[in-house]
Amino acid sequence: MTSFADLKLAEPLLRALHEEGYTEPTPIQVGAIPHLLHGRDLLGLAQTGTGKTAAFALPILQRLSSHRHPAKPKGARVLVLAPTRELASQIDASFVTYGRHMRLSHAVVFGGVGQGRQVDALRRGVDVLVAAPGRLLDLIGQGHIDLSSVEVLVLDEADRMLDMGFVRDIRRVVSMLPRERQTLLFSATMPKSIAELASGLLRDPARVEVTPPSTTVERVRQAVMFVEESDKKAATLMLLKSPKVQRAIVFTLMKHEANKVSEFLCKSGIVAEAIHGNKSQGARERAMAGFRSGQVKVLVATDIAARGIDVDDVSHVFNYDLPNVPESYVHRIGRTARAGRDGWAVSLCDSEQRAWLRDIEREIGQNIPVFADHPHHSEGARQSTKRPPVLGGGGGQRGGRNQGRGGRPGARRAA
Ligand code: AMP
Repeated sequence: MTSFADLKLAEPLLRALHEEGYTEPTPIQVGAIPHLLHGRDLLGLAQTGTGKTAAFALPILQRLSSHRHPAKPKGARVLVLAPTRELASQIDASFVTYGRHMRLSHAVVFGGVGQGRQVDALRRGVDVLVAAPGRLLDLIGQGHIDLSSVEVLVLDEADRMLDMGFVRDIRRVVSMLPRERQTLLFSATMPKSIAELASGLLRDPARVEVTPPSTTVERVRQAVMFVEESDKKAATLMLLKSPKVQRAIVFTLMKHEANKVSEFLCKSGIVAEAIHGNKSQGARERAMAGFRSGQVKVLVATDIAARGIDVDDVSHVFNYDLPNVPESYVHRIGRTARAGRDGWAVSLCDSEQRAWLRDIEREIGQNIPVFADHPHHSEGARQSTKRPPVLGGGGGQRGGRNQGRGGRPGARRAA
């Protein structure tokens, strides 16, 4: 396991981390810190709660201490942009915590409070300035801040900043920075707007991605419906016809089931596309583009194909089949409720998948509420004690549910 010392962090930082009780780095820290210490730009896909603040604050502090020189009056060596005053304050506090055994000057600026103290703090220049974009531009306009010597720029929660309408402010701020700098962009999601912003700002960035399962699960509203396999298409159609469904992903275990479900939906008047490993790259990209633009309402996907889906406003995830691996459930439902939006995940569970549901509930540490008040409800599926079919290995194409039922090992294989 990687330790903070393995990451080549300096002693004063290691001491502060020890005092904080951090025993080992989180995945985003392991992924990001070495690149940042080498001076690379970084695109970090990570939500709050993953340890992303330390992932950028630690290497930045190390850089500040190994190339010590005073900031220019009214200037800052490091500029961190954050969407809200709460986040800006937290980031500032993190720099102070991790940098407590170093000499560090810092300031934080945001609106909604008097500007006098913020201006005072900046007069002599600071190592680290954490700022919400609006107030920052105000103070620049008044001549209190000079960004011409910034060495490192961090955009934190970039997707939220764009959601809040800060894109022009960000571009204005960036236009005042030196071209020669290190730039870091963190975002929980990667909609097209962020990808565009990133490609304009970052130079050959390292890309580090982490998804925290637990926080995602908490945000998604979940339900399970007990439905026999033969009723699943009709039940899925019923669900997709709800006016609340704006954009949905339907998950199947098998590629060929994904095709069948998508064909069925198209025949029933719903614009759907299947994406899975047997589709060409071009076909997948066309399906994704249609989905993003809203022309395609439903993507029917297998687990592996779904890894590349980074669309923000997926209102619903439907599990046509439950996944046989509990972690896949968490990954699937994390496709909705992104970027602060609401999201629903509804799973169809048949008799054979009942045991998988138990495993999933154990994994997420909660019982998924049952929705039984619908015409396809099967009490048999709910009460089932059937063993699920054996997956894995096996001879390529789907052996079919009936063969799985007969207990032939490897008869079904997840796509
Ligand atoms: P963040 O994702 O930056 O908001 O961090 C989430 C929380 O995790 C904060 O309270 C940090 O203090 C804490 N944290 C960050 N890195 C670690 C670590 N390596 N070990 C333990 N806690 C950490």
